[in-house]
Amino acid sequence: MAEGGVVEMSEDTEKIPDCAKQKSEIANLMKKSLKKGDTWYLLDTKWYKQWKKYVGYDSWDSFSVGEQNAHPGPMDNTPLLKEEEGGLKHHLIEELDYMLLPEEAWDKMMTWYGLAKDQEAISRGVIEQGTFVKHFKVEVYLLDVKLCRNSDLETVITKQFSRVATIETIEKEMRNVFEIPEEKEVRLWNKYMASTYEHLNKPADTLQDAGLYTGQTIVIEEKNDDGTWPRQAKSTNTYTSTSTSTNSRSNSIGSSSHDSSSGYSGGTSYNSYYNSSSSSSYEPGRGHATPGLCGLANLGNTCFMNSALQCMSNVPMLTQYFLNDEWVNEVNEDNPLGMKGEIARSFAELVKTLWSGKYSYTAPRNFKYAVGRFAPQFSGFQQQDSQELMAFLLDGLHEDLNRIRQKPYIEMKDTDNRPDKEVAKESWENYRKRNDSVIVDTFHGLLKSTVHCPECAKISVTFDPFCYLSLPLPIKKERQLEVFWVPISPQKKPVQFKLTVPKMGTVSDLCNALSNHVQIEPDKMAVTDVYSHRFHKIFSHDDTLNNILDRDDIFVYEVPVAWDDPDTVIVPIYMREKRVKNQYSNYQMSTYQLFGQPLLLPVPRRECTYQILYNQLLQRVSRYVKVPENAGCWWKEVNEQDGQMTDSSDGKENGEKDVISNEEPVKENGMAVDQKQINGDANEMEISAANGSKETEEKQSSENTDESMEPPPLFKFRMVNSYGSAEIDHKLKNDGNPLRLHNRTHIAVDWHPLAKEKFYDEQAAEDLEQHESVKQRIQRKQVLQLDDCLELFTRVEQLGENDLWYCPQCKKHQQATKKFDLWSLPDVLIIHLKRFSYNRYYRDKIDTLIEFPYKGLNLKKYLINKEHGAVTYDLIAVTNHYGGLGGGHYTAYGKHMEDDEWHYYDDSSVSSASEEDVTSKAAYVLVYQKQGTRTKQLKCKQNCHAAGGAMENGSSNSMSDEEMETT
Ligand SMILES: [Zn+2]
Repeated sequence: MAEGGVVEMSEDTEKIPDCAKQKSEIANLMKKSLKKGDTWYLLDTKWYKQWKKYVGYDSWDSFSVGEQNAHPGPMDNTPLLKEEEGGLKHHLIEELDYMLLPEEAWDKMMTWYGLAKDQEAISRGVIEQGTFVKHFKVEVYLLDVKLCRNSDLETVITKQFSRVATIETIEKEMRNVFEIPEEKEVRLWNKYMASTYEHLNKPADTLQDAGLYTGQTIVIEEKNDDGTWPRQAKSTNTYTSTSTSTNSRSNSIGSSSHDSSSGYSGGTSYNSYYNSSSSSSYEPGRGHATPGLCGLANLGNTCFMNSALQCMSNVPMLTQYFLNDEWVNEVNEDNPLGMKGEIARSFAELVKTLWSGKYSYTAPRNFKYAVGRFAPQFSGFQQQDSQELMAFLLDGLHEDLNRIRQKPYIEMKDTDNRPDKEVAKESWENYRKRNDSVIVDTFHGLLKSTVHCPECAKISVTFDPFCYLSLPLPIKKERQLEVFWVPISPQKKPVQFKLTVPKMGTVSDLCNALSNHVQIEPDKMAVTDVYSHRFHKIFSHDDTLNNILDRDDIFVYEVPVAWDDPDTVIVPIYMREKRVKNQYSNYQMSTYQLFGQPLLLPVPRRECTYQILYNQLLQRVSRYVKVPENAGCWWKEVNEQDGQMTDSSDGKENGEKDVISNEEPVKENGMAVDQKQINGDANEMEISAANGSKETEEKQSSENTDESMEPPPLFKFRMVNSYGSAEIDHKLKNDGNPLRLHNRTHIAVDWHPLAKEKFYDEQAAEDLEQHESVKQRIQRKQVLQLDDCLELFTRVEQLGENDLWYCPQCKKHQQATKKFDLWSLPDVLIIHLKRFSYNRYYRDKIDTLIEFPYKGLNLKKYLINKEHGAVTYDLIAVTNHYGGLGGGHYTAYGKHMEDDEWHYYDDSSVSSASEEDVTSKAAYVLVYQKQGTRTKQLKCKQNCHAAGGAMENGSSNSMSDEEMETT
């Protein structure tokens, strides 16, 4: 500003606090906790990080504080929005994709930075979730609800609602959408399946109270003119009213008794189902059904829970135990590690409902509330992991049903190189002294782990009980990454390659892989992430590849020297053209916008003048920028047409403030720069801008061009921020003196509009070659066997650098080797396929097909206890996960314990399935039962029935126990 120059941002500069102040103000506001009803705003994480860099938010990242080239420009949420139709992209992840800002912070940022062109702020409300354990959450995604009329079920209109919107709101919206007059009486129905409806008769209920979930269909029914309801007639034909339950009024949550003799209401909270008179009541799903084939209504993203429950319901030993009321004698309400018996009680209720044969589906509300009370992480309605819930359920049931009332203290003895047999027996016995339940009897096995110190050769052996095996998937730790190679030779087109790189590798691995194709040394490569015609990031060679997402556009530029070369500087170059509209508020932005591909241009570090830069760039782009000899007075045409040709009128033709005018008067071609005239021009322009006088502009324009017979330059250089969105208060002068350039000098190439139109061949500029690797489908569809996973699980593994083992002999942490072996296996073996992997930057789901046997899975070869009995298993249940991360859908397959048939459980629907259906790439948790176990259980069932219920022997048949005793 001191040079009487740039006016950019001048008016707002006063209002914008300095970086330190911005940092402390926002940091303070970000501490705000969520409060019901508050509004928060979504902001793209990439932008937010750039802002943090700019203000030095993190102390370790302060090298570019306040530097103009780090200025983030206006807030830009483009990466969060769908390209075509707008609206938020699906499955965005907090912090990874977006940040949440409280309203006060957002307002401040708006004043300081504004919002990118044509964007609207993405605001979301804070809602309360959870039933017993309340927590607050910003509702980033609203629910999609499908609306239709009872008279026309084909026409479906999807609308979005908040989870805390009421049924009444939906009714209003539906009356509006379907043009139903206010005086017309209506009823709303929640349509579960083709023929299953639930009357939504509590207008004040919120969508989450009513258990509505995204994709739910709501039907509005209009009363007939004769006072009857259309659905009424239908219902009398389909259902008789004989099944009216005795506890018909007990429709409030939590009121149903756990007394097994009373008609359990299934936890339903709506009393009208095909209901015509208000005095009698139906229960949803009530009717004749096969015991065990009872669906579970989705209570809002609870498919994860439903799939786990259906798997457990199909474990005969467990279900018989509950159906026979054996649990009643064993429930342990005083166990401090338990849930006061509530998990056991609510699970027992549910199992009885599922196997009552009275319901085609039920709503597992009581069970869900019990889980929510003891495991807050499951209390919300957000999507959870089915395997985690299954583990919680088994653990909760175990403690609630633990036959040990007083857990004895047990001192662990060192293994002291004693034989495995002895240590294993001791470990198991000690475990059983504290843990004894139907869950231990059924699901627990013993795992041996051996840790080996690489330094002192100390071997540590432990035997640990397990409830499920979590198997890693032997997926190649490699990924395919598409990159664009930009050779330095101006005449060579960019080439697209598909490279195979280690998943956990670094950028230098990428360079090495590319080097094999292009025969250029990796140190002559600059790897960049190009986004919106600018460098979003220029990677260093030791950056990790998990920073690069598949959707990123990676451009690798050939550079002649390293970044820190003493003689050459590599300058980031952005192409810009004149902006047509400018709608920024609060922030004076450039009148230019980016186009084309950015470049990295090597130029002499010290002697690079404006003219040298100009010539070097022309040469660099010569493949697609060609000025023919006979170009004539190309710059004049428009001048004749509308008199708007020189840059001095750029901004003003849109009636905006001339923010860059003072930078203009660099003499176009000139070696001779007349300082006086520059100042004169500048003053004149300021005046003309102030007056808005078109006449002055035109006069000035024609003066400039008519007097100058030399062609104007094709483009002009300006220093800009790394976004290319704001000019920097430092001019690149065409005065023959060397420019002060460094690696972080971002230079905009602002094209003369006519030059761009006539000489810049966009097609040629975008032209590229495709290397054959792009067409190759390198990653063939892998098919794995369950054996592959088991082998990997039992393989010797070196611990990671972040996962060191404390060696008691060396007395320090060591990168030890570790090995698992199976020692004893339970009657019912749960196998968890680790399809999900998470870390700070990288979240992934592996959906490779894993083949597993339905019958006769023999685990003998993985068992190191050679005296163990037969370990051959048959599959009895599977949970499936469909879709990607942060969403998706869970279902289950289960083999019915009585007819041996497979069934498919998809929330409230149950359908028959074949054995072949069960193997799919969705399979996530497998439940196997040891051969021979089942018949024993069925016999027990008969005995139990004969003996009229409670029998003590029901749980004494643990194979593991026997093994332990006999060995
Ligand atoms: Zn050691």
